[in-house]
Amino acid sequence: MANFTTHIAVGTVVSGGLATLTLAADVIAPENLIAVTLAGVLGSVLPDIDLKDSRPSRALFSGLAIFLSFCVLFSVAYRYSIAEMWLLWLGSFVLFRYGGEAVFHRFSYHRGIWHSILAGLLFWFLTAIVFRDVLGRHEGVAWLAGGFLFVGYITHLVLDELYSVDVLDTRFKASFGSALKLYDGRSPGDSAVVAIAAALLFTFTPPAKPFVDGIASRELWAGLQRRLLPEDRWFGLVGSLDGLAGKSDTEAGIATGSIEQPQTADPASSQ
Ligand SMILES: [Zn+2]
Repeated sequence: MANFTTHIAVGTVVSGGLATLTLAADVIAPENLIAVTLAGVLGSVLPDIDLKDSRPSRALFSGLAIFLSFCVLFSVAYRYSIAEMWLLWLGSFVLFRYGGEAVFHRFSYHRGIWHSILAGLLFWFLTAIVFRDVLGRHEGVAWLAGGFLFVGYITHLVLDELYSVDVLDTRFKASFGSALKLYDGRSPGDSAVVAIAAALLFTFTPPAKPFVDGIASRELWAGLQRRLLPEDRWFGLVGSLDGLAGKSDTEAGIATGSIEQPQTADPASSQ
């Protein structure tokens, strides 16, 4: 099993890479990009929510409890006094943080249904709903955030599998095949509940059309391909070998090969 630090590090690199692509595609505002990238990082540690008494699980339940208790607070903010609101916030935090965690771990075991692609889909839909309905983001941004979280989630499962291959002995550890799976075959009941929950959540997701149209657009991919490498010099500094040698532009114009090129030659033919 890959540890928390490894998951966070790899998840951040993958999300950062995706974020760079998204920025180049110029499809969402930079302030949305940060939230979307964070969703990807969250996804890369989320499956270990099923690991009892672990750092990721405690951190995730604390984060979730803070988020939910603020939801409670915002919904009743103008009805109560400050003292009552304080009690409500603290009460709901303790309830979600410790009560939620205890109930959750009663019904799930490590590398069960939460280490599956099905659970990743459930969280994709949930993230899209939260981004649109709670954070008030555009539908396309909401689906993109869910997509980032899903990619982070799958990265976690792949990493867990990679760590169950003993590289030196080329043996598979007992845990092989328990992380990256479509659903949990050992527990069909859990799989059914999560499948139904995912289907239900899907009906509450915002319209996916802007997201699907954006991802499928030919111009988007053509534009990304055009921008993949610098047209001239990397960072405007390093270009051809002439650039590396520090020659001036006029000197670089002089043919340096052993065979002299005719001045009028088509540039493509001398490549
Ligand atoms: Zn894991």
